Amino acid sequence: MRPLRTKLIIAFVSVILLTGVALSGLATFAVRRSFWGFLERYREVRVVAWVDALEGWYLRERSWVGLQRWLELLSRKGGVRRGGTLAGEDRVLVADDRKVVVADSDGELVGRPLSSGLEAAARPINVAGRTVGYVVVTPAPGSPLAILESTFTASVRRVIILGGLLSSAAGILLGVYLANDITRPIVAVQRGAERLAGGDLSHRVQVNTGDEIEELAEAFNSMAESLQRDEAVRRNLTADIAHELRTPLTVLRGNLEALQDGVTPLSPEVIGLLYDEVLRMSRLVSDLSELSLAEARQLRLERRLTDLDPLVEAVTQAFRAEALNGGVELVIASAPGLPPVSIDQDRIAQVVANLVRNALQHTGAGGRVEVATVASDSGLEVTVRDTGQGISPDDLPRVFDRFYRADKSRARVGGGGTGLGLAVAKGLVEAHGGRIWVESQPGQGSTFGFWIPFPNAI
Ligand code: ADP
Repeated sequence: MRPLRTKLIIAFVSVILLTGVALSGLATFAVRRSFWGFLERYREVRVVAWVDALEGWYLRERSWVGLQRWLELLSRKGGVRRGGTLAGEDRVLVADDRKVVVADSDGELVGRPLSSGLEAAARPINVAGRTVGYVVVTPAPGSPLAILESTFTASVRRVIILGGLLSSAAGILLGVYLANDITRPIVAVQRGAERLAGGDLSHRVQVNTGDEIEELAEAFNSMAESLQRDEAVRRNLTADIAHELRTPLTVLRGNLEALQDGVTPLSPEVIGLLYDEVLRMSRLVSDLSELSLAEARQLRLERRLTDLDPLVEAVTQAFRAEALNGGVELVIASAPGLPPVSIDQDRIAQVVANLVRNALQHTGAGGRVEVATVASDSGLEVTVRDTGQGISPDDLPRVFDRFYRADKSRARVGGGGTGLGLAVAKGLVEAHGGRIWVESQPGQGSTFGFWIPFPNAI
């Protein structure tokens, strides 16, 4: 696998080199074009200068006789001065009005007719409105101007090569710097993921780039945080379960040892006590498995359209004897004609039973427990109101936590609950898309309520 850093360096250097090559190509083209444009104009000036000079000659001499000698003389001296002519720079051919060469700075073509190629480049020489001859001016090979042109081209090429080398070096340096700058935070996140995978859930990544990588690092950190939280919850849960099982196991063990040693005689009371502890443990185990399914959202609900009010009433009625024994008035505020809700009847019955049982357990003789079902906010609301001991504001936010018991003295031994009842109730209600809550004033009683949405509101 090629690392990202190398890929970025290659990408940066290639882009810089390609841009450099394209720019220098364009620059060369533009410089050459303007240089050649300049040469064209320069030559034109010189041709005009030659035409002027030759017209002057003809005006004076009235013929082309002696022109060849004058031309040779001029070539040696440095040509026509107007236009900045350099010696030997031009090859000049002059033809008479019949296009027969009468003078040639190279002395080669005198007496011959102009070839068609030269004729095309010939300029007329006019004196008094009459064409008396033609002149052809071409750059002499090896002339200073031709040398200047090749020197110029060579120096442009040199500059381009040097510029290319310098820009490549700068490109590589810049590429390495930028690639490092971009990959550093990514490497930090990668290292963070490795540490997390290695079990260090407290590790957080520090990235302040202000871009998507910083967002990635933040997402990574919040993932690490929730993993750490889940891990803490898991540890606590394991510790809680061990703790909860220890009490009934200790009771069982102590009593069984006493029976074995003959310290306690086997009596129906002892058997009843042992049986209670076994029941407690099995309730704990089934509550735990229900809770873990609900929390993992894997609870399978057998939903059926149900009239909630009769179901609440039936469940509550089952506690009538218990209420009577405890001297508590149990009231059912029935509201017939409510629309049905889609629920798992057994599960919701379990929730109602849990709330009513808790209310009765925490309400002393002479108190009152009222169970009501009403329509509310596109759903049905069941409330269990008691006039019992209430819950302190410190405990109130935690009563739905698993294993939380507000009344520590009523802890695990004997009739005390598992501390899971409300946590399970919460899981069951939420699995139905509903919510559960509590309001309480210490000394004045508590109201537990839950809400289930109507089927079309789910
Ligand atoms: P438990 O099995 O101990 O009843 P729950 O989860 O059902 O566990 O309840 C958690 C705690 O909330 C109880 O231990 C109790 O302290 C408190 N609680 C529940 N219902 C009431 C109530 N109606 N009045 C006062 N306290 C209550």
